[in-house]
Amino acid sequence: MADEPSDTGAHKRGPSTASVHAGEPRRKFGNALATPIIQTATYTFANTQELRDHFEQRITREEYGRYGNPTQRVAEEKLAALDSAEDCLLFSSGMAAITTALFAMLSRGAHVVVTDDSYRRTRQFLNSVLHRYGIEVSTVPAGDFDAMQDAIRPTTRVLLSESPTNPYNCILDLERFAEIGRRHRVKTIIDATFATPYNQRPLEFGVDLVFHSATKYLGGHNDLMAGAVLGSTDLVDGIRAMQGVMGAVVDPFAAYLLIRGLKTFALRIERQNANAQAIAEFLEAHPKVVRVHYPGLPSFPNHDIARRQMRGFGGVVTFEVEGDLDIASRVVDACRIPRIAPSLGGVESLIEQPALMSFYELTTEERLQVGIKDNLIRYSVGIEDAGDLIADLAAALERA
Ligand SMILES: *Cc1c(COP(=O)(O)O)cnc(C)c1O
Repeated sequence: MADEPSDTGAHKRGPSTASVHAGEPRRKFGNALATPIIQTATYTFANTQELRDHFEQRITREEYGRYGNPTQRVAEEKLAALDSAEDCLLFSSGMAAITTALFAMLSRGAHVVVTDDSYRRTRQFLNSVLHRYGIEVSTVPAGDFDAMQDAIRPTTRVLLSESPTNPYNCILDLERFAEIGRRHRVKTIIDATFATPYNQRPLEFGVDLVFHSATKYLGGHNDLMAGAVLGSTDLVDGIRAMQGVMGAVVDPFAAYLLIRGLKTFALRIERQNANAQAIAEFLEAHPKVVRVHYPGLPSFPNHDIARRQMRGFGGVVTFEVEGDLDIASRVVDACRIPRIAPSLGGVESLIEQPALMSFYELTTEERLQVGIKDNLIRYSVGIEDAGDLIADLAAALERA
């Protein structure tokens, strides 16, 4: 976007170049091409003068593993370049990023507005953990800006939403969301895990802070756990100080795996966008499918907003089959390519019924109250061949 500093004069590099090169010094330890894993818990000082220079900020260097690691810094700079962010901080998981950031930004008596179709653990953290520390929470329907504005109080500090949301892929008008935050002097946060910075960069629309579960698309291979917070140096620094206390740091090896996964980030997301679009179109035309929730379909609510603010529509296709919980299970069990597992975003297609995964312990009635239907299936589309995935789904729907 126009106000991005790296845009001035120089040619702005695309997401594929950034995912391969950003954050990596041209010259690395031992002349290695790959980023070394600096597997250390602590760092040495030559003498007490260097220690003094460090604490008085005359020099920039590492100190102790809980405050950062050189492998982690490379991954952070890569993500900051991809999301057009001033600063990025990595954590041991997406939830570690979310909980630490909210602990840093909220105090007793503060109030948070969160949208309803959001990651279950985020809402649980707000409603049961932070609530015990005297923080109040209002939940409003995703995309209902009137309800959001009505919920804002003098004590409101944070507006938090996902876009697209989990599992219904609801799209939030990010410009409007950011504007409401600015007008009420409330920080706006988007959990952009589903979109990834390839498809959408919320900071460019004026949102204050972005969360990602890097366990999903950013890592992309279902072999690491990490989380990221991105935003202004000012905001991220406050969260960094809290991380130094809470300790949910990313391991150097996980940071390396993330760098490795990010090399193919743009390629993977392009493929997953295309595969998901093809699958969504196939499902929408299928007689045994009642409804498809995918922002790339012209029939989808807020498709126009999605087109305006996203480059692609992501790799998660959620759909409702004709029938009940058991029919949906039969479809899932009849699929031969996607594996049944929680999570999303990796190269392997995964399939699940939200009613039997994230919401298992609730009754059908309780699930309906939080909007989770029994006939719902969430398909996280991988990088396999679209034709194979569609033939597999067609056969599964036939057999079920
Ligand atoms: C998975 C996920 C999280 C939590 O991330 P972890 O890495 O599993 O801790 C948060 N938000 C969304 C939208 C997610 O999909």
